[in-house]
Amino acid sequence: MVHELYQEIILDHSKRPRNFHKMDDANRKAEGYNPLCGDRLRLYLKMENGVVKDASFEGAGCAISTASASLMTESLKGKTKEEAMVLLDRFHDLLTTDSAVTAELGKLAVFCGVRDYPARVKCATLCWHTLKSALENNGGAPPASTE
Ligand code: ZN
Repeated sequence: MVHELYQEIILDHSKRPRNFHKMDDANRKAEGYNPLCGDRLRLYLKMENGVVKDASFEGAGCAISTASASLMTESLKGKTKEEAMVLLDRFHDLLTTDSAVTAELGKLAVFCGVRDYPARVKCATLCWHTLKSALENNGGAPPASTE
C-alpha cells in the first residue's frame, strides 16, 4: 500500500516536474548523462553563503530520472552544501543497500522501491551525481560529465 502511494508521487513528479526551468542567475551548473537509459540532465543552483537558495533543472529522461530531479531540487532549498552531501549519501544508501528509511530523507523515501530494480538505480541517482559535480565546481568551469 505504501508503495502504491510512493508510485503515485513519482508519477506526479514525472508528469509535472517541479523547478523544471533554466536559471539565468545560477552560480553553479552541471550536466549529467546516464547512457544506460539515455537520461540527460542540466542542473542549476544558486548558492549564497554556502546555502542552496534555489535549484532547478532541465533535461529529458525517463519518469524515474525526472521525478528524482524534481524531488531533489525541492529538497535542496535551504540546505547547506554539507547537508546536501549528507542527503546524497543517504539517498545512495537507500537505493543500493537494505538501509532503513531515515527521517531526514523526507519525501525522497518514495524512491526506496527502486532498489528492487537495479537497472533503474542510475536513473534515480543521476541528478545526485550531477549535484555533486555542481557543488564541486565553481560555475565557471565546463560542465563535468558524471559517468
Ligand atoms: Zn532513466
